[in-house]
Amino acid sequence: MISPRLSILPVLALLAAPALAAPSRASGPAAEARAIDVELIACGTRHSMSSWTDPKRGIGCGRDVVVRWLNEIAARTGGRLKVVVDKYQTSGPRTGNVAVPMENVYAVLEGTDPLRRKAAYVVSGHLDSRASDVMDTKSDAPGADDDASGVIVSILSAEALAAKPGGFRGTLVFAAVAGEEQGLLGARRLKEWLAEQGYQVGGMITDDIVGATNGSKDRRPRVFSEGGPDGVDSPGRQMARRLDELAGPKRVRLVFRRDRFGRGGDHIPFVEAGLPAIRITEPLENYDHQHQDIRVEKGVQYGDLIQYMDFPFVAEVAALNQLLLAELAAAPAPPKSALLTGAVTPSAKITVEAEEDPGRKGFEILRRETTDARWHLLRTVERPGEIVLEGTSTDNEYFAVRSVGRDGRRSLAVPCVAPPPAAPPAPAKPPGR
Ligand SMILES: [Zn+2]
Repeated sequence: MISPRLSILPVLALLAAPALAAPSRASGPAAEARAIDVELIACGTRHSMSSWTDPKRGIGCGRDVVVRWLNEIAARTGGRLKVVVDKYQTSGPRTGNVAVPMENVYAVLEGTDPLRRKAAYVVSGHLDSRASDVMDTKSDAPGADDDASGVIVSILSAEALAAKPGGFRGTLVFAAVAGEEQGLLGARRLKEWLAEQGYQVGGMITDDIVGATNGSKDRRPRVFSEGGPDGVDSPGRQMARRLDELAGPKRVRLVFRRDRFGRGGDHIPFVEAGLPAIRITEPLENYDHQHQDIRVEKGVQYGDLIQYMDFPFVAEVAALNQLLLAELAAAPAPPKSALLTGAVTPSAKITVEAEEDPGRKGFEILRRETTDARWHLLRTVERPGEIVLEGTSTDNEYFAVRSVGRDGRRSLAVPCVAPPPAAPPAPAKPPGR
């Protein structure tokens, strides 16, 4: 599951350790993933407008499963994880434009550093499921993959990261949200809740349909990132690149698109707010097993059923999430700004602005050909301020800057952009009047 190249990193050894699980538990992340899936499926349906109060059937039963797992993890990891059930009212075309009650579950691992505590790194899956008719609250909708798999990734990540001695500088939030199928309603609420708590989102991952490989030879999960206003760069794109650097291109497949063609997910409210957010999805989807009533037609089994799940793959996706979340939550903040000047001169100039941070060793100046997908290191500097790239044109490459911690952890890259235009001079008074 973890490549030999990476298994030498102490952090991964730690993240992969199932040692904190009580001996009676399913052992190892893949077995745990299966155990959680079985419990979520047993709720029959997790439609967002099914029952929130019936302990046996409906989305409230699903919420109880998540809360119980997270509370057990919190107890086993010394109580540092705080479990929150966020109840809210929401509406949209897929609630009949009527306000309905929904609930999200969050486990919060508060950051240890007052400088970085208000930066939140968020992993989310959606608790709700659906049958063929998106308004059908009654039929079975096991959602074994869509999206019990993403909820499982949040839970496994909470378990691995809450166990890290000393914690992280930034805050980690492990979420299971409702209302995705009704129009990303729970993710919108998650974004609002984070703001209400005073957090700035340093990075958000939605894991949605990360449970099956459907016979794909390429077992790498797809990591979707949006191009941003210029079609080239966005904070989410920097997140995707960082994951690719950490895990290597043999473990992730970057897709430079907001989402699958013509489709969407819970990262979108964050992307639209200009925040760093990505979507992770399995390599090859089987549409017979998504958003389908359970039935057999012409010998074909339809339905999002557990027999199509690949639990070692779910565990691998969880490990990838943990790799990125741990890096970003331990790293210094990204630079506040990185401005590029020096057009029509022989040397590009980059001006970096950043908060004081004793945990920061310096900055990396990154470059890439305009046709390249990945950054390359150009040079390192210790201090913010102006950096002159002698004999380097502003025109032929893209540049970015990121912070590097004393422990080698790296922030998201901040692309170098032109300074904002100066305010135009006040119009001169027309002469002779
Ligand atoms: Zn989904």
